[in-house]
Amino acid sequence: MNRPPAGRRVFIETWGCQMNELDTQRMTGLLMQQGILPTREVTEADLILLNSCTVREKAEQKVYSRLGEYRLLKRERPGLRIGLCGCVAQQEGERALERVADLDFVLGPARVGEIAALLPRLEAGERVVATGFPAERSYEFDAIARGEDFKGMVTVIEGCDKRCTFCIVPSTRGPERCRPLADVVAEVRHLLAFGFREIELLGQTVNHWRGAGGEDFADLLDAVAPLPGLARLRFMTSFPRDFTPPMIDCFRRHENLCDFLHLPVQSGSDRVLRRMGRGYAIAEYDDLVGRIREARPSVALSTDLIVGFPGETEEDFRQTLGLVERLRFASLFAFRYSPRPGTASVRLDGGVPDDVAQERLQRLLAAQNRIQAGINAGLAGRTFEVLVTGPGREPGRRIGRTSCNRIVHFEASPEAAPAGELVRVQIDRPLPHSLLGTLVGGGAGNPPTAATDLPPRRRLPVLA
Ligand code: SF4
Repeated sequence: MNRPPAGRRVFIETWGCQMNELDTQRMTGLLMQQGILPTREVTEADLILLNSCTVREKAEQKVYSRLGEYRLLKRERPGLRIGLCGCVAQQEGERALERVADLDFVLGPARVGEIAALLPRLEAGERVVATGFPAERSYEFDAIARGEDFKGMVTVIEGCDKRCTFCIVPSTRGPERCRPLADVVAEVRHLLAFGFREIELLGQTVNHWRGAGGEDFADLLDAVAPLPGLARLRFMTSFPRDFTPPMIDCFRRHENLCDFLHLPVQSGSDRVLRRMGRGYAIAEYDDLVGRIREARPSVALSTDLIVGFPGETEEDFRQTLGLVERLRFASLFAFRYSPRPGTASVRLDGGVPDDVAQERLQRLLAAQNRIQAGINAGLAGRTFEVLVTGPGREPGRRIGRTSCNRIVHFEASPEAAPAGELVRVQIDRPLPHSLLGTLVGGGAGNPPTAATDLPPRRRLPVLA
């Protein structure tokens, strides 16, 4: 096979959260405008980007070990350019260039929009560090190469002004910057005009969004949810203390607001929450969950938990287990505490030994698996509206997601359940992490009545 001309293929490896995924889509789109196309084969790439995550130490180590592997490719191909992007890039800056001799550039998450402008400097052999948080920067949403052609992520707020003692995000993603309401609405309209059905509003603390005219996140939801053609609206990640009654009421007002909410709690112990600097007590979190469930009884909640935080006692941990038993989350992400450089928690006393933290993590995951299996078992026989995402792994099967973010497998032809359409699926057999069902018809919102006068479906560039 002929090799593509030099500088015409980019391979991007992405770790971490949806914010990083979206940054990858942005960089891909900007590079495509320069004629540089994405590839899944690292061996045919002329540009390799590692879009990194630094939330846990392990993720950071992985990035460095991957850089070590990629620099060997450079020995065979001196024209190859390698860039470190994402949160490790922001954290390491110049140090990364010193540590990895064959690294060509370091690009922080707030600078991804500058990727195309870097190219001539790289071609001239310059090694570049672009980090920090410029006050002014462009956000060309029409240049984003979307990951799917029916579900789009839209940034509404970047950075974070909170100071949770374990978290490195405020230093890697910078201070909070809110996008203007009109920009967010324009981007959502743009996606809907291309036939997108589901929109996910993104931000590190998405519900802390503020508009220039004093609007809050409830106002933003009120502006976006009624847009014609929008079948589903999600948002991620919410900070418990920033949830207001009008935001909760949005679950009553907007039917297309998904039956899903990710609400990180981090610990079930007030003592640990205080040491984490979270600014709420468990009674307040319990109360918030109660009010959200009252507004939308079908909502599926997910959360994040850290075990083995400095000073966490067995009693604190039992309170976390108690919280999980009491609130019965549909899913949770639990991790052992990982000390991050520059965060306040590294100075806290009472470090929990690794084996104790690991044992607690196992107990927590075992409890959650049992709870989740019980919740899923209760879904048998129910019918869900499913947004089809494409073919399943097994022949003849299709796959999709419910509004409550559960994965559903079902038998159907691509014609009966095309990707991007809403169909109705009855659940026959709940599996530990997904559901198996039978197609019983088109979805209620399929096609959405308000979207019938939209222009014919067009396609945006989609990542390979
Ligand atoms: S709210 Fe806390 S955990 Fe979330 S990004 Fe901000 S500092 Fe980190």
